[in-house]
Amino acid sequence: MATNSYDDENLDEGHYVYQVSAVVDQTESELSSAAEVDMILYERLIGKVIGTSGSWSGSSTSTRNAVFDGDITTFFDAPVADGAWAGLDLGKDNEAIVTEIRFYPRQNLPDRMVGGCFQGASKSNFSDAVTFYTISDTPKTDTFTSISVVDAGQYRYLRYIGPENGFCNVAEVEFYGYRSGISALTPPCADNVRQTPEILFDLQGRYVVTPMPKHGLYIHKGKKMLIGG
Ligand code: CA
Repeated sequence: MATNSYDDENLDEGHYVYQVSAVVDQTESELSSAAEVDMILYERLIGKVIGTSGSWSGSSTSTRNAVFDGDITTFFDAPVADGAWAGLDLGKDNEAIVTEIRFYPRQNLPDRMVGGCFQGASKSNFSDAVTFYTISDTPKTDTFTSISVVDAGQYRYLRYIGPENGFCNVAEVEFYGYRSGISALTPPCADNVRQTPEILFDLQGRYVVTPMPKHGLYIHKGKKMLIGG
């Protein structure tokens, strides 16, 4: 199709190759070099639940597991007020790039998440942690808050770590992303088209765009030029 832009929407997962060409006076240039894209849909990341063990009340329903049980009514209530955390171990050779985080506060106590943050790490003790996002304001209660993450790193360990005096209270945390080995989407570059070898004019003064004509008389840089014979 002849257009200056193209949005390829609702793609399925797969490998896609894009090339563009220029059209001048109904003559089409050669195709640009290919831009290749691997499209993969984001998925909810799952793994083994890790983090601070136990709970404030000793209740088995208020442990770190409650953060990832898909139930907004259950929440983590850590046995310690400060530094408690809950996370996921995605597994060896199963690192992921995180693109989105969603969280749901403990009912009636969303303020206990202010200062809490979400991190990714390659080491299980999070000594090399990268912080994706820190909660600066009291999150909305009774709903999920979604955060977009822009970080190209690949991490095996993901976690939410509560602020001081927060008891790591949170009802649900969801990490979304995709597995490593997927190249970023790179749109076809129009510069490829501009690299057509030469611009010729025919004797009527019209552009002639590659592919190069097989034969004929043309104007090249102000001079007549005979191509072929
Ligand atoms: Ca829960």
